[in-house]
Amino acid sequence: MILAGATVVTSLDPVRVSREDVHVVGGRIAATGGGTSRDCSGCLVVPGNVCAHTHLYSALARGMPYALAPPTNFTQILQRIWWRLDRALDEDSIRASALVGGMEALLSGTTTLVDHHASPNAIDGSLDVVADALGSLGIRAVLCYETSDRDGLDRARAGVAENRRFLNRVRSEELPLARGMVGAHASFTLSDDTLAACTEAAHDHGVGLHIHAAEDAADERDAMARDGLRVAARLDRAGALDERTLLAHGVHLDDEEIRLVHAAHSSIAHNARSNMNNSIGRARLHALGGRVSLGTDGIGSDMFEESRTAFFRLREDDGGAGGDWPLQRLAESAHLAGRAFGEPLLGVLQPGAPADLVVLDYAAPTPVHDQSFAGHWVFGLSARVVRDVMVAGQWVVVDRRLATVDQQQLAAEALGEAERLWQRLDEIGPHEFEPKGGR
Ligand SMILES: [Zn+2]
Repeated sequence: MILAGATVVTSLDPVRVSREDVHVVGGRIAATGGGTSRDCSGCLVVPGNVCAHTHLYSALARGMPYALAPPTNFTQILQRIWWRLDRALDEDSIRASALVGGMEALLSGTTTLVDHHASPNAIDGSLDVVADALGSLGIRAVLCYETSDRDGLDRARAGVAENRRFLNRVRSEELPLARGMVGAHASFTLSDDTLAACTEAAHDHGVGLHIHAAEDAADERDAMARDGLRVAARLDRAGALDERTLLAHGVHLDDEEIRLVHAAHSSIAHNARSNMNNSIGRARLHALGGRVSLGTDGIGSDMFEESRTAFFRLREDDGGAGGDWPLQRLAESAHLAGRAFGEPLLGVLQPGAPADLVVLDYAAPTPVHDQSFAGHWVFGLSARVVRDVMVAGQWVVVDRRLATVDQQQLAAEALGEAERLWQRLDEIGPHEFEPKGGR
């Protein structure tokens, strides 16, 4: 395949813009070669976006009924919303959620999802359901199961087992587009034993732990109430912090915790819209530094919107923040995914890199070059201009439609599944799990 006539952004950090045709051979960018040509004149070709933290299981939650008293803090948001939804999930709704979330990701130009899955009443095999659904769409994904003690010891053990089972499958079958991590919910719903079991599983499989950390102050209060350690210190003591570990949010990490995270070279997934939506506080982005990637925490997978919102939120506090900040964060998201796939060139469009790319139908009204591209990203581009999407050399979106499955049928089936899910949800009360140290 040759993508002809486009302006090509070959790298986001540093920005590099060129005007050469893109050649794709054997799923990778190549210097020459490729067969069929696709006319991309007047278009921008950019690396596929990576969402570094999401929850596909919440894809059918949009607009769901809510009859309980409104939550007034983060713990109640979990107890009254997300820990009811996750218990209502069964295999069919897990599949429908993954298909809907994956479809919307691809249509918005996101080619890799780093997902954190929870379904306490359908744990065993759940990651296969997600992986197979995403595989049918042709999207790349790094999956894990959200191990937690909040639903009892049996489910905590089943969570660890599901992570191990899926990692064994990934190792033996060489799924081309799926990799695994070990998922854990958050310090405040993990006993020392369960945290140790998660860490051991991650070490055994040579993968990272993917865990919410210091998302809300309640996580810190809980850790302190357990044995006088803050969240990152507790994770560090458990051997859970290393260069493969992914911490979601990190909003309430203090200086000493950030020092521990930096010393371990762990990553932080920043989720700006989710943080705002849940009123949990502001991530200390300058202190967190360079290993910050961007996730949506389940608010879709549109990284144009997420990165732009994160940027404006940052600029509200710091007018000096550079316009290339969102691009640096997205490049870091790609590095994170690249580490999981053993593909250090994921996220750049240079010979040898996986051909994960997006064709944007964008009639630029001002020049596009190395110095101006960040301005186009923040003030001009959006998911609306996504025309075609390629993952590992396969077209998965062509002319704004999914290329691999019937998009209308997928949406229609999801609608029926959402109605059944919402009915089950209606019969599930607030979760009774409480963090130590108060909400
Ligand atoms: Zn999350």
